[in-house]
Parts: sequence; C-alpha cells; structure tokens
Amino acid sequence: MSFVSDKVRDLPPYLFAEFQRRKKELQADGVDVIDLGIGAPDLPTPEFIIDRLVAESRLPTNHRYSSYSGCAEFREAVADYYKRRYQVELDPESEILAVIGSKEGLANLMHATINPGDAVLVPDPGYPVYRTAVQLAGGESVSLRLDHQNGYVPLYEELDQAVIDRAKLMLLNYPSNPTAATVNFNTFLKAITFSEENRLLFVHDAAYDMITYNGYKAPSVMQVPNAKDHAVEFGSLSKSFNMAGWRIGYAVGNKEVIQALSTIKSNIDTSQFLPIQKAAAAALSSDFKAAEANSYVYQIRMEKLHRAFEKLGIQADKPNGTMFLWAKVPHGYSSMEFAEKMLLEAGVIVTPGNAFGAQGEGYFRVALTVPAERLDEVIHRMEQIDLKGVATE
Ligand SMILES: *Cc1c(COP(=O)(O)O)cnc(C)c1O
Repeated sequence: MSFVSDKVRDLPPYLFAEFQRRKKELQADGVDVIDLGIGAPDLPTPEFIIDRLVAESRLPTNHRYSSYSGCAEFREAVADYYKRRYQVELDPESEILAVIGSKEGLANLMHATINPGDAVLVPDPGYPVYRTAVQLAGGESVSLRLDHQNGYVPLYEELDQAVIDRAKLMLLNYPSNPTAATVNFNTFLKAITFSEENRLLFVHDAAYDMITYNGYKAPSVMQVPNAKDHAVEFGSLSKSFNMAGWRIGYAVGNKEVIQALSTIKSNIDTSQFLPIQKAAAAALSSDFKAAEANSYVYQIRMEKLHRAFEKLGIQADKPNGTMFLWAKVPHGYSSMEFAEKMLLEAGVIVTPGNAFGAQGEGYFRVALTVPAERLDEVIHRMEQIDLKGVATE
C-alpha cells in the first residue's frame, strides 16, 4: 500500500537529481565542481527592491491576506510596465493577475483551462515544467518541433490536423529557455492567427523578456491587435530582477482565462505576501536600469564563452537574450555522454539537451550563472580535454 497518488508516481524522474548526486560525490573527493546546469541568477536583487520589502514588511496592514488577484499597486505596476515597454493597454482589474512565480501560474493555468484528455502543444525543446503541468491536469502534451534550421519557431504546416483538432492550448517561450532563440513580432502574429483559426488558447511565457542585449528588444504577444481574444502572457520578476526565490510574477491578457485562473488560485493560495508584491511593483515601475545592468553582465559572459566555443570547434548561435548558451555536442557523442564527459573530465556540469525534449538531443545547455573568472576556468579545463569524440561511422 502507498499513500502516494498515481498522479505523483507517474511524474517523470527529476533529470537533474543524478547530476546533483554525482556533484556531491566529486566534491567529497575534493573536485572543484563548476555548476553551469542551474538556470537561476547568481546576481543579487537590487537594493531599492529590498529596501521597499523591508519598509513594507514593517507595516501591520501588510500582514493581512492580499486580495485574490494581487494588490492594486502590483497590478497597476504591471499595466504601467506594458504601457511603457510595449505600448499595450491592460485593465488592471480584469486583465492582470499576480502569480506566485510563473511556474505556479502555469501549473494552475492548466487546471483552469484544460479538461482530461485535451491535447496541449508544447515546445520541443522546451522548459520541462510545461509537460509536467499538463500531465498533472490530466492533459496530453504534444511536441511542437522547433529546430535550429528554422530559428526554433513552430512549423505549423507539419502538424497533423487531427492533432490540432484535439488541442486546446499552445505554449511558446521567447526569448527561449533552453535554446536562447529570440523572435520578432511576426512570430507572435502567426501564433495568434494559428490560434484563432484553430480555436486554441495561446500561452506565451515571457520569463526572459527583459534579459536581452546586442540591441535586441523582445516583443510581447499582447502587441498583436486581437491578442486578448486568444492569448495570455506570463511574466516573472525572477530573472529580470534576480528575484527567483521571492516567487512573484504575473499573468495578463484574456479576461475569461485570467478570471478562471484567479478562481483556481483563490481556492489554493490566496496570492503572495503583500510586501513582496509591493517591492515587485517598485521593480516594474523603475527605469529598468537594474535589468539592463543584469543583461549586460550576461552579455559579457556570453561573449566570452561563445568566443571560446568557436575556438574549441563547438557550434552555438550567439544569443541576443537569456542567460543560456545552447550548443551542439561534439561529433560522436550523445547529449548525455557529453554531459557525463564534461562532469568527469572537466568537473563542469552542463545540462544534456534531451532533458528539454527529444528535439534537444545532440545539444547541451550552459547556464551563465557564474562569474566571468569561473567561466575562464571552465574554458581552461575544456581546452585540456579531448573534444574530438569517438567516430560513429
Ligand atoms: C525561470 C523560468 C521561469 C520563471 O519561473 P518563476 O516561477 O517565475 O520563477 C518561467 N519560464 C521559464 C522558461 C524559465 O526559464
């Protein structure tokens, strides 16, 4: 007999667990392991945000329950953010909802929108949380194949109409984790058109909308004129302002979906701690200098590692956003074999591409969440190992 539900037992094993176990083993043997597997910022939360948290947490009125959809100040700050950054008008009352990080929001969104058996189109390669969220809600994930040759945008033509007809929802994420792919407005226009034609809800995960560089600015799906009829977009403070542990983000867009998500959440969590919402409002209302400074740090790290990979003969597109470098494994290795080699011979943890879906096979993801000096050390170690691989012919 077990107390654990089938739902939990059926979840896929945590792919990073094995690497973390091996990391501890190597560290116990005195190896200085450099972990480029963790996709969370290493930089501190800006002072002005922490100051606001401290000040707000001293006010007793902030210790009460928040309103279900998040406090007015936070929702107005999100509306103001969309107006300033994307020239998009959102109604703070009905088109914006605070979430406890977009991971929570996405998981509950599935319960709010899909019925058991519904198909959901998920990006492959893509953030693994999408698939588990769909599974927990009783849905079925269908891979939306994204490939390098097409800039990692969906190829709607190659989808089977029978699959599309069963689908209720489509998920995409740009700038992308893990591929670091960035897109222009046209990609969102096509996604909305496709969703309209096939009566799908389009969900865009904009977790990296502020982590961009080389002159690139990420568009929002809400800039498509009829987006609110077909889409919601999730945003997060986790990456833009180094607030991963704070657990605060937002969902915007279609009123009916925002209301449904709010109904689910009002029965589960009653929203985030008010001082955190107010500090996040201060972040979103700022002049974006902090987020730009962050992006600049990633840009410098990215240039360093990309240049080194070129010299080492490792192929990778130079990204215009995110903190990830998505690279091809050297000839003769599977993703897993290469990740193992990196750990054993260089003491460096990278994430094998297949952890993000079948289409990720042949790639590996590097998270630039260590200081530049540590990246120098990574490069130095990679220069010492034989990257030629074994001939597969
Ligand atoms: C980090 C990340 C998030 C952010 O999750 P939070 O729950 O807001 O911390 C969402 N989507 C993707 C693709 C991410 O990489």
